[in-house]
Amino acid sequence: MDILILVNKLHPLPENFQVRLAEAENGKLLEYSTAGAYKAMKNSAAADGVFFKLLSGYRSVGYQKKLWEENVRRLELSGMSARQAQKLTGESIAPPGVSEHHTGLAADIVRPEDPDAELSFHGTKQFLWLRENSHRFGFILRYPQGGSSLTGYSYEPWHYRFVGKAAEKIKNSGKTLEEYLTLCKKCGIINDI
Ligand SMILES: [Zn+2]
Repeated sequence: MDILILVNKLHPLPENFQVRLAEAENGKLLEYSTAGAYKAMKNSAAADGVFFKLLSGYRSVGYQKKLWEENVRRLELSGMSARQAQKLTGESIAPPGVSEHHTGLAADIVRPEDPDAELSFHGTKQFLWLRENSHRFGFILRYPQGGSSLTGYSYEPWHYRFVGKAAEKIKNSGKTLEEYLTLCKKCGIINDI
């Protein structure tokens, strides 16, 4: 598979998409090489006295559909119209088929005690460690602050994306994956990453 595959609201998962999965933590799955990189990163953090857990890794399109529909139903039961419920759901949950989690390359990482992914993850020692070190293991912070017009998502301090050896260049460029891939195509350096 293409480790730099782009999946977002404008680029749905290709229908013939296939991924080789491996267990990353507690039965949670990631793409095979992503799982290895995640484990190495987790061990390295632990050696520095920093502990985190994988809240969410690979999600099938069917599972995403279930998440989406449950949230819409919950909002409808609270009195919203179907249209309102779908709009609000879309602000926090990717519709099935366009979530980066379908690729197995995305990892939601939180503190061991966190039941959910929250904005308060920003500024924790886990976040600060990941900010300094995640690129060494091939991960980038996928939805940075101020990037929502490009990525389609608000800031998510917990969502990391495996991009392999391109991680350091992307981090140093300060660009989102969308911008980076566009630049690479324009200047023809796609083979260099
Ligand atoms: Zn995520």
